[in-house]
Amino acid sequence: MGGRPGSGILLTLAKEADGTMIFECPNCKETIDSTEKQCRFCSAPIDAGAAERAAKTLARVNQACSDASFMRTAAVALLVFFGMLFIPLVSWYGTWGCLILFAAVLVMVVRWWLRFWNIESDDDDFVRSRRTVGVVTLLLFFPVIRFVSVLAIALFGPGN
Ligand SMILES: [Zn+2]
Repeated sequence: MGGRPGSGILLTLAKEADGTMIFECPNCKETIDSTEKQCRFCSAPIDAGAAERAAKTLARVNQACSDASFMRTAAVALLVFFGMLFIPLVSWYGTWGCLILFAAVLVMVVRWWLRFWNIESDDDDFVRSRRTVGVVTLLLFFPVIRFVSVLAIALFGPGN
């Protein structure tokens, strides 16, 4: 897996869950605040604009990862409800669970791609998250096509 050229700077970024604008000093790899003029560890000068952009990208990457992990949980629940469709006593719950979760996961997938499609990052977590979202997207693709065709036949097909 070779990294894309030009995205290397993101590899130097640190992660911070609380959204503080921090990043790693390109020189000494210590974690520093993006508002600092120079690194407080090695005194390397910090380009405030670049640091700000890097920190913002980092915040988006973190958001993309946490959204993807939430989506994966919802997708797993969807599969569980789908499995319930085949169990007689609980199939009623399975139907409703499937419908609601399917709609929810569909919204999450569309929103994720709209918000994060243009992130360029080789960050391990992000690459893994994007793969997860890709799998979920594929999972939804065929049911959506099927649903649209069933709907089209119901609306415009013979017998109406
Ligand atoms: Zn430094």
